[in-house]
Amino acid sequence: MQRLMVAVDIGGTKTRVGLFRDGSLLFRTSFATKGLAEVVKALRVLLSRAKAEPYSIGIGAPAPLDMRHGVILNCPNLPHWNGVEVVTELSREFDCEVFLANDATCAAIGELEFGHRSPDFVYITWSTGIGGGIVSGGRVVWGVEGQAGEVGHMVLAPQGPHCRCGKRGCLEALASGTGIARAAAELFGRKLTAATVVRKAQEGDVAAQRLVLRACEAMGQGIGILWEIFEPEMIILGGGLTRSWDYLGPFVLSAAREFSRTPPRVELTPLGDDVGLYGAAALYKHIPDLR
Ligand SMILES: [Zn+2]
Repeated sequence: MQRLMVAVDIGGTKTRVGLFRDGSLLFRTSFATKGLAEVVKALRVLLSRAKAEPYSIGIGAPAPLDMRHGVILNCPNLPHWNGVEVVTELSREFDCEVFLANDATCAAIGELEFGHRSPDFVYITWSTGIGGGIVSGGRVVWGVEGQAGEVGHMVLAPQGPHCRCGKRGCLEALASGTGIARAAAELFGRKLTAATVVRKAQEGDVAAQRLVLRACEAMGQGIGILWEIFEPEMIILGGGLTRSWDYLGPFVLSAAREFSRTPPRVELTPLGDDVGLYGAAALYKHIPDLR
């Protein structure tokens, strides 16, 4: 029986599961995020369809995680996963090694292995939240507990809006989809998604334009700072908001140039929404030896 790399990307709304061989995505499925039982069932169905056994299972999930013990912690978007020992549970179900890492770090690994394949870059997810992963000299920068790269919680405006992490003025609070939607709710007095705000801005709504510009300036500031600190070959963006890059990109890049001495090179991931899934498949190659 063939042995395939199994990848699981657990998101706030959707869970993606894929089977890979030599970097090719052979089988995939996705479903509304629930709990462990649904993931096990989806994996069994895919593996039996592929007539395969898992070589390894890589899981990407939103922070906070206990990477050392393979446990998903109290992520507000994942009520069914709070405290689940996903590595232990899946190792018991499937006879293979199982690895867990932050979803944005997985996306960076996807980029490193299958995207631009740059040895020096910072990856930023610009979506409902803002996450990141750093690759330097061809190696993932993990940090002591495997939590490095939380670029979304750089404090850019100490008096700025509250962030879910408890601080104020984090990049995530200023520029994420949630941040844009919250500012829009205050301004327009009703609920609007970030995508709607961006569309209104594109249609000429001046108030929406101001909100979008503020978010782009914060993202540009973050990019400029990261560019100076890491001197990467490029900064790579992915995530839902990059679908509007044609409109947002020029604002982001012009702000980024204000915060760095040389203009940052910014690229979008060619792997689209699957970048985290690709990275989870290759996670086994990059997992750190946490002391
Ligand atoms: Zn924060």
